[in-house]
Amino acid sequence: MSQKTNKKPHVLFLFSDTGGGHRSAAEAIIEAINLEYPDQITYEMVDFFKKYAPPPFDKAPETYPPMARIPDVWELGYAISDGRRRSRAIMNLLWPYVKGAALRLLEEHRCDLFLSVHPVINTPLLRTLGPYHPPYITVVTDMVSTHAFWYHRKSNLVVVPTESARDKAINYGIDPGRVIVAGLPVADRFATMNGNRAEIRARLGWPQDKPVVLLMGGGEGMGPVERTALSIADAHLDMTLVVVCGKNEGLKRRLEMVNWPMPTFIYGFVTEMPNFMQAADVLVTKAGPGTISEGFIAGLPIILFARMPGQEDGNVAYVVEEHAGVWAPRPQQVVDTLTTWITRPEERLKVAQTSRSLARPDASRKIARIIGSQLNMGGELKQSESLFSD
Ligand code: UDP
Repeated sequence: MSQKTNKKPHVLFLFSDTGGGHRSAAEAIIEAINLEYPDQITYEMVDFFKKYAPPPFDKAPETYPPMARIPDVWELGYAISDGRRRSRAIMNLLWPYVKGAALRLLEEHRCDLFLSVHPVINTPLLRTLGPYHPPYITVVTDMVSTHAFWYHRKSNLVVVPTESARDKAINYGIDPGRVIVAGLPVADRFATMNGNRAEIRARLGWPQDKPVVLLMGGGEGMGPVERTALSIADAHLDMTLVVVCGKNEGLKRRLEMVNWPMPTFIYGFVTEMPNFMQAADVLVTKAGPGTISEGFIAGLPIILFARMPGQEDGNVAYVVEEHAGVWAPRPQQVVDTLTTWITRPEERLKVAQTSRSLARPDASRKIARIIGSQLNMGGELKQSESLFSD
Protein backbone atom coordinates (compact mmCIF):
# COMPACT_ATOMS: atom_id res chain seq x y z
CA MET A 1 0.00 0.00 0.00
CA SER A 2 2.92 2.35 0.65
CA GLN A 3 3.86 4.72 -2.15
CA LYS A 4 5.87 7.41 -0.44
CA THR A 5 7.50 10.21 -2.41
CA ASN A 6 9.24 13.31 -1.13
CA LYS A 7 6.86 15.92 -2.45
CA LYS A 8 3.34 14.75 -1.77
CA PRO A 9 1.92 14.86 1.75
CA HIS A 10 2.03 11.44 3.34
CA VAL A 11 -0.73 10.03 5.57
CA LEU A 12 -0.05 7.20 8.01
CA PHE A 13 -3.10 5.03 8.71
CA LEU A 14 -2.96 3.30 12.07
CA PHE A 15 -5.16 0.22 12.22
CA SER A 16 -5.23 -3.44 13.15
CA ASP A 17 -7.09 -6.45 11.84
CA THR A 18 -8.98 -7.00 15.09
CA GLY A 19 -12.31 -7.57 13.34
CA GLY A 20 -12.95 -6.37 9.80
CA GLY A 21 -14.16 -2.88 10.61
CA HIS A 22 -10.88 -1.02 11.18
CA ARG A 23 -9.37 -2.13 7.88
CA SER A 24 -12.63 -1.44 5.99
CA ALA A 25 -12.76 2.08 7.44
CA ALA A 26 -9.11 2.83 6.57
CA GLU A 27 -9.54 1.50 3.05
CA ALA A 28 -12.73 3.50 2.56
CA ILE A 29 -10.95 6.72 3.57
CA ILE A 30 -7.99 5.94 1.29
CA GLU A 31 -10.38 5.36 -1.58
CA ALA A 32 -12.08 8.69 -0.86
CA ILE A 33 -8.70 10.49 -0.69
CA ASN A 34 -7.89 9.12 -4.13
CA LEU A 35 -11.23 10.36 -5.42
CA GLU A 36 -11.04 13.81 -3.81
CA TYR A 37 -7.29 14.42 -4.35
CA PRO A 38 -6.23 12.12 -7.17
CA ASP A 39 -2.50 11.42 -7.08
CA GLN A 40 -1.86 14.26 -4.63
CA ILE A 41 -1.56 12.44 -1.30
CA THR A 42 0.44 9.31 -0.51
CA TYR A 43 -0.45 6.91 2.28
CA GLU A 44 0.42 3.69 4.03
CA MET A 45 -1.42 1.42 6.43
CA VAL A 46 0.35 0.00 9.49
CA ASP A 47 -1.10 -2.85 11.52
CA PHE A 48 0.56 -1.68 14.74
CA PHE A 49 -0.37 -4.80 16.74
CA LYS A 50 1.12 -7.17 14.20
CA LYS A 51 4.17 -5.11 13.26
CA TYR A 52 5.14 -3.39 16.49
CA ALA A 53 3.41 -4.60 19.64
CA PRO A 54 5.49 -6.72 22.02
CA PRO A 55 4.29 -10.31 22.68
CA PRO A 56 1.59 -11.36 23.40
CA PHE A 57 -0.10 -8.22 21.97
CA ASP A 58 1.40 -8.84 18.50
CA LYS A 59 -0.99 -11.78 18.24
CA ALA A 60 -4.08 -9.60 18.83
CA PRO A 61 -5.43 -9.99 15.26
CA GLU A 62 -5.37 -13.80 15.70
CA THR A 63 -6.59 -13.91 19.30
CA TYR A 64 -9.40 -11.39 18.71
CA PRO A 65 -11.89 -13.78 17.03
CA PRO A 66 -11.69 -16.59 19.65
CA MET A 67 -11.72 -14.06 22.51
CA ALA A 68 -14.63 -12.18 21.04
CA ARG A 69 -16.55 -15.45 20.76
CA ILE A 70 -16.61 -15.76 24.58
CA PRO A 71 -19.11 -13.01 25.40
CA ASP A 72 -18.45 -12.98 29.16
CA VAL A 73 -14.71 -12.54 28.72
CA TRP A 74 -15.23 -9.78 26.19
CA GLU A 75 -17.81 -7.99 28.32
CA LEU A 76 -15.60 -8.14 31.40
CA GLY A 77 -12.56 -6.90 29.50
CA TYR A 78 -14.58 -4.09 27.97
CA ALA A 79 -16.18 -3.05 31.24
CA ILE A 80 -13.01 -3.02 33.33
CA SER A 81 -11.06 -1.00 30.78
CA ASP A 82 -13.76 1.56 29.86
CA GLY A 83 -14.04 4.91 31.69
CA ARG A 84 -11.61 7.81 31.81
CA ARG A 85 -9.68 6.84 34.94
CA ARG A 86 -9.62 3.11 34.27
CA SER A 87 -8.40 3.45 30.72
CA ARG A 88 -5.64 5.77 31.88
CA ALA A 89 -4.63 3.33 34.64
CA ILE A 90 -4.41 0.49 32.11
CA MET A 91 -2.37 2.56 29.70
CA ASN A 92 -0.03 3.57 32.54
CA LEU A 93 0.43 -0.09 33.41
CA LEU A 94 1.21 -1.01 29.81
CA TRP A 95 3.37 2.02 29.10
CA PRO A 96 6.76 0.42 29.97
CA TYR A 97 5.98 -2.47 27.59
CA VAL A 98 4.74 -0.44 24.65
CA LYS A 99 6.88 2.70 24.85
CA GLY A 100 9.77 1.30 22.77
CA ALA A 101 7.39 -0.06 20.14
CA ALA A 102 5.63 3.30 19.80
CA LEU A 103 8.98 5.07 19.34
CA ARG A 104 10.09 2.58 16.72
CA LEU A 105 6.83 2.94 14.83
CA LEU A 106 7.21 6.72 14.72
CA GLU A 107 10.84 6.54 13.64
CA GLU A 108 10.12 4.08 10.85
CA HIS A 109 7.00 5.82 9.52
CA ARG A 110 7.46 9.55 9.09
CA CYS A 111 4.32 11.26 7.90
CA ASP A 112 2.52 14.57 7.49
CA LEU A 113 -0.67 13.38 9.13
CA PHE A 114 -1.68 10.51 11.41
CA LEU A 115 -5.05 8.92 10.85
CA SER A 116 -6.04 6.44 13.54
CA VAL A 117 -9.00 4.11 13.06
CA HIS A 118 -8.28 2.04 16.18
CA PRO A 119 -8.87 2.88 19.85
CA VAL A 120 -5.81 1.21 21.34
CA ILE A 121 -3.02 3.04 19.50
CA ASN A 122 -3.98 6.61 20.40
CA THR A 123 -2.59 6.95 23.91
CA PRO A 124 0.77 5.24 23.25
CA LEU A 125 1.46 7.29 20.13
CA LEU A 126 0.20 10.62 21.38
CA ARG A 127 2.22 10.22 24.56
CA THR A 128 5.33 9.46 22.54
CA LEU A 129 4.76 12.30 20.09
CA GLY A 130 5.18 15.15 22.56
CA PRO A 131 3.78 18.64 22.04
CA TYR A 132 4.75 19.31 18.39
CA HIS A 133 3.62 16.80 15.85
CA PRO A 134 1.82 16.51 12.52
CA PRO A 135 -1.98 16.59 12.83
CA TYR A 136 -3.39 13.50 14.50
CA ILE A 137 -6.95 12.62 13.48
CA THR A 138 -8.88 9.88 15.21
CA VAL A 139 -11.74 8.38 13.23
CA VAL A 140 -13.96 6.46 15.63
CA THR A 141 -15.25 3.27 13.99
CA ASP A 142 -17.64 2.25 16.77
CA MET A 143 -21.08 3.72 16.38
CA VAL A 144 -22.52 4.58 19.75
CA SER A 145 -20.87 2.73 22.68
CA THR A 146 -17.43 4.11 22.04
CA HIS A 147 -14.65 3.00 24.41
CA ALA A 148 -12.60 5.53 26.40
CA PHE A 149 -9.43 4.39 24.57
CA TRP A 150 -10.68 6.19 21.47
CA TYR A 151 -10.43 9.58 23.09
CA HIS A 152 -7.14 11.26 23.81
CA ARG A 153 -7.09 14.96 24.47
CA LYS A 154 -4.07 15.46 22.24
CA SER A 155 -5.87 14.25 19.10
CA ASN A 156 -6.21 17.32 16.90
CA LEU A 157 -9.55 16.15 15.61
CA VAL A 158 -11.90 13.34 16.57
CA VAL A 159 -14.34 12.30 13.85
CA VAL A 160 -17.34 10.31 15.11
CA PRO A 161 -20.21 8.50 13.38
CA THR A 162 -23.17 9.64 15.52
CA GLU A 163 -24.31 12.41 17.87
CA SER A 164 -24.21 9.92 20.77
CA ALA A 165 -20.55 9.23 20.07
CA ARG A 166 -19.95 12.98 19.98
CA ASP A 167 -21.49 13.33 23.46
CA LYS A 168 -19.24 10.55 24.69
CA ALA A 169 -16.14 12.20 23.21
CA ILE A 170 -16.97 15.45 24.98
CA ASN A 171 -17.64 13.57 28.22
CA TYR A 172 -14.19 12.07 27.96
CA GLY A 173 -12.66 15.52 27.83
CA ILE A 174 -12.33 16.24 24.11
CA ASP A 175 -12.85 19.92 23.27
CA PRO A 176 -16.25 20.11 21.49
CA GLY A 177 -14.64 22.21 18.75
CA ARG A 178 -12.47 19.27 17.83
CA VAL A 179 -15.24 16.72 17.48
CA ILE A 180 -16.88 16.33 14.07
CA VAL A 181 -19.88 14.09 13.32
CA ALA A 182 -19.36 12.66 9.83
CA GLY A 183 -20.82 9.15 9.85
CA LEU A 184 -18.93 5.89 9.61
CA PRO A 185 -16.59 5.69 6.62
CA VAL A 186 -17.72 3.05 4.14
CA ALA A 187 -16.45 2.18 0.68
CA ASP A 188 -17.47 4.45 -2.17
CA ARG A 189 -19.07 1.46 -3.92
CA PHE A 190 -21.72 1.56 -1.15
CA ALA A 191 -22.28 5.27 -1.66
CA THR A 192 -22.85 4.90 -5.38
CA MET A 193 -24.56 1.47 -5.43
CA ASN A 194 -25.69 1.92 -8.99
CA GLY A 195 -25.73 -1.71 -10.11
CA ASN A 196 -28.87 -3.33 -11.39
CA ARG A 197 -30.48 -5.67 -8.84
CA ALA A 198 -31.80 -8.08 -11.43
CA GLU A 199 -28.43 -8.25 -13.16
CA ILE A 200 -26.57 -8.84 -9.92
CA ARG A 201 -28.98 -11.62 -8.94
CA ALA A 202 -28.71 -13.19 -12.39
CA ARG A 203 -24.91 -13.17 -12.23
CA LEU A 204 -24.89 -14.66 -8.71
CA GLY A 205 -27.55 -17.23 -9.62
CA TRP A 206 -29.98 -15.94 -6.97
CA PRO A 207 -33.69 -16.34 -7.84
CA GLN A 208 -35.40 -13.16 -9.04
CA ASP A 209 -38.83 -13.95 -7.61
CA LYS A 210 -38.15 -14.45 -3.89
CA PRO A 211 -36.99 -12.05 -1.17
CA VAL A 212 -33.28 -12.49 -0.44
CA VAL A 213 -32.27 -12.67 3.23
CA LEU A 214 -28.59 -11.86 3.73
CA LEU A 215 -27.20 -13.44 6.92
CA MET A 216 -23.73 -12.50 8.17
CA GLY A 217 -21.55 -12.11 11.27
CA GLY A 218 -18.97 -9.42 10.42
CA GLY A 219 -15.61 -10.06 8.83
CA GLU A 220 -14.98 -13.07 11.08
CA GLY A 221 -18.37 -14.78 10.68
CA MET A 222 -19.20 -14.38 14.38
CA GLY A 223 -22.39 -14.97 16.38
CA PRO A 224 -24.83 -17.90 16.13
CA VAL A 225 -24.88 -17.82 12.32
CA GLU A 226 -25.22 -21.59 11.98
CA ARG A 227 -28.06 -21.96 14.49
CA THR A 228 -29.88 -19.02 12.98
CA ALA A 229 -29.51 -20.33 9.42
CA LEU A 230 -30.82 -23.77 10.46
CA SER A 231 -33.83 -22.25 12.24
CA ILE A 232 -34.63 -20.18 9.16
CA ALA A 233 -34.45 -23.36 7.08
CA ASP A 234 -36.81 -25.18 9.48
CA ALA A 235 -39.40 -22.43 9.01
CA HIS A 236 -39.73 -23.20 5.27
CA LEU A 237 -40.27 -19.57 4.31
CA ASP A 238 -40.67 -18.56 0.69
CA MET A 239 -37.29 -16.85 0.42
CA THR A 240 -33.68 -17.16 -0.68
CA LEU A 241 -31.02 -17.43 2.02
CA VAL A 242 -27.56 -16.00 1.42
CA VAL A 243 -25.02 -16.68 4.17
CA VAL A 244 -21.71 -14.81 4.24
CA CYS A 245 -19.29 -16.62 6.57
CA GLY A 246 -16.45 -14.08 6.24
CA LYS A 247 -13.13 -15.59 7.33
CA ASN A 248 -14.82 -18.34 9.34
CA GLU A 249 -13.89 -21.30 7.14
CA GLY A 250 -15.20 -23.91 9.59
CA LEU A 251 -18.64 -22.30 9.51
CA LYS A 252 -18.61 -22.26 5.72
CA ARG A 253 -17.62 -25.93 5.53
CA ARG A 254 -20.37 -26.97 7.95
CA LEU A 255 -23.07 -24.96 6.18
CA GLU A 256 -22.02 -26.33 2.80
CA MET A 257 -22.82 -29.83 4.03
CA VAL A 258 -26.42 -28.98 4.91
CA ASN A 259 -29.19 -30.04 2.55
CA TRP A 260 -31.16 -26.79 2.45
CA PRO A 261 -34.92 -26.87 1.79
CA MET A 262 -34.92 -23.47 0.03
CA PRO A 263 -32.55 -21.74 -2.41
CA THR A 264 -29.46 -21.15 -0.26
CA PHE A 265 -26.05 -19.72 -1.16
CA ILE A 266 -23.07 -20.04 1.14
CA TYR A 267 -20.04 -17.78 0.74
CA GLY A 268 -16.73 -17.32 2.55
CA PHE A 269 -15.18 -13.85 2.57
CA VAL A 270 -16.98 -11.75 -0.01
CA THR A 271 -15.33 -8.77 -1.70
CA GLU A 272 -18.50 -7.44 -3.32
CA MET A 273 -20.63 -6.68 -0.28
CA PRO A 274 -22.16 -3.58 -1.97
CA ASN A 275 -23.61 -5.84 -4.70
CA PHE A 276 -24.80 -8.39 -2.15
CA MET A 277 -26.57 -5.71 -0.13
CA GLN A 278 -28.06 -4.09 -3.17
CA ALA A 279 -29.50 -7.40 -4.37
CA ALA A 280 -30.84 -8.37 -0.90
CA ASP A 281 -34.13 -7.50 0.82
CA VAL A 282 -33.34 -8.12 4.48
CA LEU A 283 -30.08 -7.99 6.45
CA VAL A 284 -29.63 -10.36 9.39
CA THR A 285 -26.36 -9.52 11.10
CA LYS A 286 -24.23 -9.22 14.20
CA ALA A 287 -24.39 -5.59 15.34
CA GLY A 288 -21.11 -4.57 13.68
CA PRO A 289 -20.94 -0.84 12.94
CA GLY A 290 -19.61 -1.33 9.41
CA THR A 291 -22.28 -3.77 8.33
CA ILE A 292 -25.07 -1.71 9.93
CA SER A 293 -23.91 1.51 8.22
CA GLU A 294 -23.66 -0.28 4.90
CA GLY A 295 -27.13 -1.76 5.46
CA PHE A 296 -28.51 1.76 6.04
CA ILE A 297 -27.07 2.94 2.73
CA ALA A 298 -28.59 -0.07 0.94
CA GLY A 299 -31.90 0.71 2.66
CA LEU A 300 -32.14 -2.76 4.19
CA PRO A 301 -34.37 -3.53 7.16
CA ILE A 302 -32.08 -5.04 9.79
CA ILE A 303 -32.43 -7.98 12.17
CA LEU A 304 -29.63 -7.97 14.73
CA PHE A 305 -29.07 -11.47 16.11
CA ALA A 306 -25.84 -10.94 18.07
CA ARG A 307 -23.64 -8.18 19.43
CA MET A 308 -20.25 -7.85 21.08
CA PRO A 309 -21.18 -7.12 24.71
CA GLY A 310 -20.35 -3.57 25.72
CA GLN A 311 -18.83 -2.45 22.46
CA GLU A 312 -21.89 -3.07 20.26
CA ASP A 313 -24.72 -2.61 22.80
CA GLY A 314 -25.22 0.97 21.64
CA ASN A 315 -25.52 -0.15 18.01
CA VAL A 316 -28.43 -2.38 18.95
CA ALA A 317 -30.15 0.42 20.85
CA TYR A 318 -29.59 2.81 17.94
CA VAL A 319 -31.09 0.51 15.28
CA VAL A 320 -34.06 -0.43 17.47
CA GLU A 321 -34.83 3.09 18.75
CA GLU A 322 -34.62 4.55 15.26
CA HIS A 323 -36.94 1.76 13.96
CA ALA A 324 -34.45 0.62 11.32
CA GLY A 325 -34.62 -2.93 12.57
CA VAL A 326 -35.14 -5.29 15.50
CA TRP A 327 -33.09 -7.05 18.15
CA ALA A 328 -33.62 -10.81 17.89
CA PRO A 329 -31.02 -12.68 19.95
CA ARG A 330 -32.86 -16.02 19.71
CA PRO A 331 -33.13 -17.80 16.34
CA GLN A 332 -36.91 -18.13 16.81
CA GLN A 333 -37.17 -14.34 17.10
CA VAL A 334 -35.29 -14.01 13.81
CA VAL A 335 -37.72 -16.46 12.20
CA ASP A 336 -40.75 -14.62 13.62
CA THR A 337 -39.55 -11.28 12.24
CA LEU A 338 -38.72 -12.79 8.87
CA THR A 339 -42.14 -14.42 8.73
CA THR A 340 -43.80 -11.04 9.29
CA TRP A 341 -41.58 -9.21 6.82
CA ILE A 342 -42.00 -11.84 4.11
CA THR A 343 -45.75 -12.29 4.45
CA ARG A 344 -46.39 -8.55 4.90
CA PRO A 345 -43.87 -6.81 2.62
CA GLU A 346 -45.38 -3.39 3.35
CA GLU A 347 -44.08 -3.67 6.95
CA ARG A 348 -40.65 -4.60 5.68
CA LEU A 349 -40.64 -1.63 3.29
CA LYS A 350 -41.55 0.79 6.09
CA VAL A 351 -38.52 -0.34 8.11
CA ALA A 352 -36.39 -0.28 4.96
CA GLN A 353 -37.28 3.36 4.40
CA THR A 354 -36.30 4.31 7.94
CA SER A 355 -33.04 2.42 7.54
CA ARG A 356 -32.26 4.39 4.36
CA SER A 357 -32.96 7.66 6.14
CA LEU A 358 -30.12 6.97 8.60
CA ALA A 359 -27.55 6.50 5.83
CA ARG A 360 -24.48 8.71 5.64
CA PRO A 361 -23.02 7.69 2.31
CA ASP A 362 -20.79 10.77 2.14
CA ALA A 363 -18.84 10.04 5.36
CA SER A 364 -15.62 8.84 3.68
CA ARG A 365 -15.55 11.78 1.28
CA LYS A 366 -16.16 14.18 4.12
CA ILE A 367 -13.29 12.66 6.13
CA ALA A 368 -11.04 12.85 3.04
CA ARG A 369 -11.81 16.56 2.77
CA ILE A 370 -11.08 17.03 6.48
CA ILE A 371 -7.68 15.40 5.84
CA GLY A 372 -7.20 17.71 2.85
CA SER A 373 -7.91 20.76 4.95
CA GLN A 374 -5.45 19.62 7.61
CA LEU A 375 -2.82 19.24 4.89
CA ASN A 376 -3.62 22.75 3.60
CA MET A 377 -5.01 21.40 0.35
CA GLY A 378 -8.45 22.94 0.73
CA GLY A 379 -11.27 20.82 2.02
CA GLU A 380 -13.98 20.43 4.59
CA LEU A 381 -12.72 22.93 7.19
CA LYS A 382 -11.85 26.54 6.46
CA GLN A 383 -8.13 27.34 6.60
CA SER A 384 -8.67 29.34 9.78
CA GLU A 385 -10.08 26.21 11.40
CA SER A 386 -7.06 24.11 10.48
CA LEU A 387 -5.76 22.54 13.66
CA PHE A 388 -2.10 21.88 13.05
CA SER A 389 -0.89 22.11 16.62
CA ASP A 390 -2.33 21.80 20.09
N1 UDP B 1 -17.20 -7.84 5.11
C1 UDP B 1 -16.77 -8.12 3.83
N2 UDP B 1 -16.82 -9.40 3.39
C2 UDP B 1 -17.28 -10.42 4.15
C3 UDP B 1 -17.73 -10.14 5.47
C4 UDP B 1 -17.69 -8.83 5.91
O1 UDP B 1 -16.34 -7.23 3.09
O2 UDP B 1 -17.29 -11.55 3.67
C5 UDP B 1 -17.12 -6.45 5.57
C6 UDP B 1 -18.46 -5.80 5.85
O3 UDP B 1 -19.05 -5.35 4.64
C7 UDP B 1 -18.03 -4.71 6.81
C8 UDP B 1 -16.89 -5.34 7.59
O4 UDP B 1 -16.44 -6.44 6.82
O5 UDP B 1 -17.52 -3.59 6.08
C9 UDP B 1 -17.33 -5.86 8.95
O6 UDP B 1 -17.35 -4.79 9.84
P1 UDP B 1 -18.29 -4.74 11.10
O7 UDP B 1 -18.01 -3.45 11.76
O8 UDP B 1 -19.69 -4.99 10.70
O9 UDP B 1 -17.87 -6.00 12.00
P2 UDP B 1 -16.47 -6.56 12.54
O10 UDP B 1 -16.01 -7.58 11.54
O11 UDP B 1 -15.51 -5.37 12.64
O12 UDP B 1 -16.79 -7.16 13.86
